[in-house]
Amino acid sequence: MKRKLLSILVMAACAQAGAQVTDAMIANDANTPEDVLSWGMGTQGQRFSTLTDVNAKTIGRLVPVWSMSFGGEKQRGQESQPLVHNGKMFVTASYSRIFALDAKTGQKLWKYEHRLPEGIMPCCDVINRGAALYDNLVIFGTLDAQLVALDQTTGKVVWREKIDDYSAGYSYSAAPLIAEGLLITGLSGGEFGVVGRVEARDPKTGKMVWSRPTVEGHMGFLNGKENGITGTTNATWPGETWKTGGATPWLGGTYDAKTGLAYFGTGNPGPWNSHVRKGDNLYSASTIAIDVKTGKIVWHYQNTPNDGWDYDGVNEFITFDMDGKRMGAKADRNGFFYVNDAATGKLVNAFPFVKKTTWASSIDLKTGRPVYIDENRPGDPTAGDGKKGKTAFAAPGFLGGKNQMPMAYSPKTGLFYVPTNEWFMDIWNEPIAYKKGAAYLGAGFTIKPLFEDHIGSLRAIDPKTGKVAWEVKNTAPLWGGVMTTSDLVFWGTPEGFLKAADAKTGKVVWEFQTGSGIVAPPITWKQDGVQYVSVVSGWGGAVPLWGGEVAKKVNFLEQGGAVWTFKLLK
Ligand code: CA
Ligand code: CA
Repeated sequence: MKRKLLSILVMAACAQAGAQVTDAMIANDANTPEDVLSWGMGTQGQRFSTLTDVNAKTIGRLVPVWSMSFGGEKQRGQESQPLVHNGKMFVTASYSRIFALDAKTGQKLWKYEHRLPEGIMPCCDVINRGAALYDNLVIFGTLDAQLVALDQTTGKVVWREKIDDYSAGYSYSAAPLIAEGLLITGLSGGEFGVVGRVEARDPKTGKMVWSRPTVEGHMGFLNGKENGITGTTNATWPGETWKTGGATPWLGGTYDAKTGLAYFGTGNPGPWNSHVRKGDNLYSASTIAIDVKTGKIVWHYQNTPNDGWDYDGVNEFITFDMDGKRMGAKADRNGFFYVNDAATGKLVNAFPFVKKTTWASSIDLKTGRPVYIDENRPGDPTAGDGKKGKTAFAAPGFLGGKNQMPMAYSPKTGLFYVPTNEWFMDIWNEPIAYKKGAAYLGAGFTIKPLFEDHIGSLRAIDPKTGKVAWEVKNTAPLWGGVMTTSDLVFWGTPEGFLKAADAKTGKVVWEFQTGSGIVAPPITWKQDGVQYVSVVSGWGGAVPLWGGEVAKKVNFLEQGGAVWTFKLLK
């Protein structure tokens, strides 16, 4: 009797331990295909699964097993990557909602709907990109710039922390990063003259550990004490301009245990009119590498110094091995693909990954700086009538050669799978003054397609040579992310298809219509011996809101909000 009780207690303790997400589990996430604990399917963000059951030979048997609707009237853009742990799926949805589902059946376990105030100011739809798991908690951020931690089992709120003032334009839409026992987040609001920063909190309590502003001149903090100013005040920003400098790391970050560094990309400097802030405007439109122990910037690489096109450099920095060294790759909104040394930031390679880049002809590998084509910078309004500067034709358009949709890397092929878009804009500058909570652009623009037959293109890119191994064109702009497993690549389209192609040749071998546009990255995992593939479907995001001529081309697409899950038919 006693022995039986003891064994029940031991079993209960084991089940409890299995339910808790530990630092070791997160560090090893990419090597444990039975769960998906982080955005990027591993903190390096490679979105590669070691599973092999679903492959080019078996893909014909991949069929839907369940679909679950987010319900209600709150449709709009669904950019969320689900997480899977302990038989449960955690998935966020538009309007700051999160659901827990039975991962095998799709049955709803609980949902949490954040009460949003009037007057939130998300720039680019009411989206959310996913949650983070730690201990018994699931943590996500909200459009009114808060972080909420809920009990994974009950969905009850355990803690809630304010990031900043939503009425000043701050918001939050990224999936938080967990690394070395810290919850690491950026923030959004770069179109409103807010000041970007990366913050680390205790994931169990929400208590702040460090804060690192991403605009030069602002003070960082560690354990409540001053921890040094970011950069050197006024070195690259004139006058008071750094006080409304933007540079928001709104896509969140990646982490590599080998370097101990968290990598965050930063958004545009404020305002868009570059003539009022002559200088490089550090650390806007950059990759920054932060030592997670000290909260200090170890290196930075600026993709677009003195950005004048809204080329947010937020894109994910994915670390990988090349020639025996740890590197990081980033396909920047500005149309260039960069490879930097992950430990030092030294530029190793850079090449365009779209057909046309008008703002710079190339990136000088010696200096690390773009070779600008000066006459293609939108003009200074004070040079003419004071109301409107010279209009520039600019490619890529501000929605970017690539935007928020994360690419994937396969160590098997050595290729990056990059969702790209080909478009341009007419852009001009106008005078602007900062006003709290108002758009801080000082620019006007219209986005147009470059080609008649396609805007999107999924491209397989060799980071060493810059060669495009293959591409699959898409009529509408691609806005969802990519996942690779075995010899396949998966991605979604605004037209509603989840597609799979051969990773080596690009031959499309499978597709399924999800009923609304896909603007989110797929995942895969294995549970009780069965490999599953999941993706969130629901058209929206920045394109229909900001896309100009392009928005007219996609206005027939219907909204939605659902998770789809697939497995192989026996
Ligand atoms: Ca895993
Ligand atoms: Ca921006």
